[in-house]
Amino acid sequence: MASQSFDMIVIGAGPGGYVAAIRGAQLGLKVACVEREHMGGICLNWGCIPTKALLRSSEIYHFMHRAKDYGLSAEKIGFDLDAVVKRSRGVAKQLNSGVTHLLKKNKVTAIMGDATITAKGRVTVKTETGSEELTAKAIVVATGARARELPGLEADGDLVWTYKHALVPKRMPKKLLVIGSGAIGIEFASFYNTLGADTTVVEVMDRVLPVEDEEISKFAKKQFEKQGMKIREKTMVKKLDRDNGKITAHIEAGGKTTTEDFDTVISAVGIVGNTEGLNLEGVGVKVERSHVVVDAHCRTGVDGIYAIGDIAGAPWLAHKASHEGVMVAELIAGGHPHEVDPDSIAGCTYCHPQVASVGMTEAQAKEAGYNIKVGRFPFIGNGKAIALGEPEGLVKTVFDAKTGALLGAHMVGAEVTELIQGYVVGRQLETTEEDLMNAVFPHPTLSEMMHESVLDAWDRAIHY
Ligand SMILES: Cc1cc2nc3c(=O)[nH]c(=O)nc-3n(C[C@H](O)[C@H](O)[C@H](O)COP(=O)(O)OP(=O)(O)OC[C@H]3O[C@@H](n4cnc5c(N)ncnc54)[C@H](O)[C@@H]3O)c2cc1C
Repeated sequence: MASQSFDMIVIGAGPGGYVAAIRGAQLGLKVACVEREHMGGICLNWGCIPTKALLRSSEIYHFMHRAKDYGLSAEKIGFDLDAVVKRSRGVAKQLNSGVTHLLKKNKVTAIMGDATITAKGRVTVKTETGSEELTAKAIVVATGARARELPGLEADGDLVWTYKHALVPKRMPKKLLVIGSGAIGIEFASFYNTLGADTTVVEVMDRVLPVEDEEISKFAKKQFEKQGMKIREKTMVKKLDRDNGKITAHIEAGGKTTTEDFDTVISAVGIVGNTEGLNLEGVGVKVERSHVVVDAHCRTGVDGIYAIGDIAGAPWLAHKASHEGVMVAELIAGGHPHEVDPDSIAGCTYCHPQVASVGMTEAQAKEAGYNIKVGRFPFIGNGKAIALGEPEGLVKTVFDAKTGALLGAHMVGAEVTELIQGYVVGRQLETTEEDLMNAVFPHPTLSEMMHESVLDAWDRAIHY
């Protein structure tokens, strides 16, 4: 068995792992990055990127139907599902090759194979041709997660899909049931509904996008319903019967169970961590509910073993994984990096309209005992939103009335996933309402609503 020694071994080349590997190499560490399937992980291959490519196609399709609103004409509007999927796969492939290139450029040893931690500082990799023994002072587990399957709702790839099947459909659903209205469920619901599927979304919690501020959830729901989506909250799918190309869903709401037929179901009920086969517990790493238990610096409690990204728990977001990757690499290289503050990680959902937020919701801020000031600004009061033909949306800000600290920001509407970073930077700089009020926002931009929302919290909004 071939044997090699490194300073740092990263298991998994998703946005957590490959970023950790590159940062480690930049800091002068000798780094190996082991990946069993695809460089770039779920994010680049089966998550963030290919979904956004699909959603771009459906967005353009939506605007083609609205051509007349812009004084344009478009005839025979249609789509070729295979071509839409081909474009999405092409985008994923391009970025996947980019990761391989970046690892090489940074002199990271990339090894394709399945890794197991055989002892502290020791990893065995099963490759296509045999196995390799790697040793290092530090091991970073970045093995990510996969779709959760609930009993009775298991995916078969034919009638019942996980996100992986939904990314490469061989047919267009006619009557679609989406189970779960988190970011993944709502993005697919938005994509297929826009392309014409009769779409129902079932959510067990009391509202769609349940982690978002209640007002934003309600606003988004109204928009989805306007687009023809059926939203059923406080509702649970208990069972799916499959028969002859048809699925009968048993749906429970308010103590009553009814049945409804669909031709396709997308199950988006969460994720489970990829902990199997790593021998984590064998080397003393604590795993709880399929996630590795870590401290604020992603240390597992076993000297020299770290866990980052989806495997280390919520929020399950690529940028959280990458940021943790940089942090552990710096720690391993002897630095003293700041902990990742979970409250400063923005969440974005790329449905139509988009949703984005950072920090506390209004309810969370109240629950935490803050005396708050809340600002709101609707898209209809913004010149750029009207010029874009996108006058529906809301920017909401939540402040500590006493100190003026920005506790949270919540948005729904066009391009808000690009806007939210303004508030993220503000929070990082410990901004107050005064700094935000004194900042000059360019005109005409959607970002002016971020300013107006702050002004509104102090009853000073100009344009509404
Ligand atoms: C449909 C969908 C859409 C999403 N959209 C977004 C979005 O818009 N924005 C966002 O921030 N997040 C999004 N996410 C979430 C995002 O993809 C994840 O948070 C992110 O990929 C986590 O990165 P990671 O590095 O922790 O793990 P992953 O990306 O899952 O990478 C882990 C890698 O480890 C490898 N691996 C596992 N076990 C082993 C082993 N034993 N040996 C070797 N290799 C192993 C896997 O093959 C995988 O490549 C989306 C997810 C899905 C499913």
